[in-house]
Amino acid sequence: ERRPLIAGNWKMFHGGNSGLALAADVVSIAKRVPHADLVISPPYTILGAVSLDCQGKKVAVAAQNLHAKDKGAFTGEISGPMLVESGCTWVIIGHSERRQLFGETDATVAEKTAAALQYGLLPIVCVGETLAEREAGNTLAVVKRQVEAFLDILAGSDKAAAIAYEPVWAIGTGKNAGPAEAEEVHAAIRAWLVEKSPALAQRTRVLYGGSVKPDNAKALLGCPNVDGALIGGASLDAASFGAIAEAA
Ligand code: 13P
Repeated sequence: ERRPLIAGNWKMFHGGNSGLALAADVVSIAKRVPHADLVISPPYTILGAVSLDCQGKKVAVAAQNLHAKDKGAFTGEISGPMLVESGCTWVIIGHSERRQLFGETDATVAEKTAAALQYGLLPIVCVGETLAEREAGNTLAVVKRQVEAFLDILAGSDKAAAIAYEPVWAIGTGKNAGPAEAEEVHAAIRAWLVEKSPALAQRTRVLYGGSVKPDNAKALLGCPNVDGALIGGASLDAASFGAIAEAA
């Protein structure tokens, strides 16, 4: 059995003192949830400070993005080695907001996944279909294409990365995939991982994301192939993030 991984994606919220306070609250949550790994992903501006505060406290810190190159003339970008220096151990890659609003593609997601592993960061690579793709019956085909873009890269490393299945229609909408809908996709992802390598399938945690809340967390996290959650809105508040972590 894989250890549950509960990750909070703060997106563009809590970039200052409120983020430092929330990180301190998550450190307390970690003390009462020893059975799960907790990850928080604050904005870049406080990554260093939060990483220092979380050191040795069983809360890991993730960046929300990275540039695939280690350095260079790329105004506004942040590299993997810089994230490692700031204390991050994880990085979220290919979130649907980055795919939809910032032009990321399966190819850039693959490049960034390789870079993360090369520089010593554990990737949480995001996949998920849009509402139109689901309604057209293409959910598994779309998710398979997205996963296949980086599967060889994960298989080529012995690091325990994570994949987050986040149906785009469930993000920030209050509409979560039901446990059966989530499990169908998670089981498919697990099968593709097994096909590539049983060891890869064993070590890779597949997280569900999209309107995870305290009241639906138990059912979603109880699915056999759901190994954790990637939480947006409900991770911005310590009480709801704590309640979800306790449900893991
Ligand atoms: P919500 O939990 O706000 O739906 O966001 C999910 C998400 O995008 C996490 O990365």
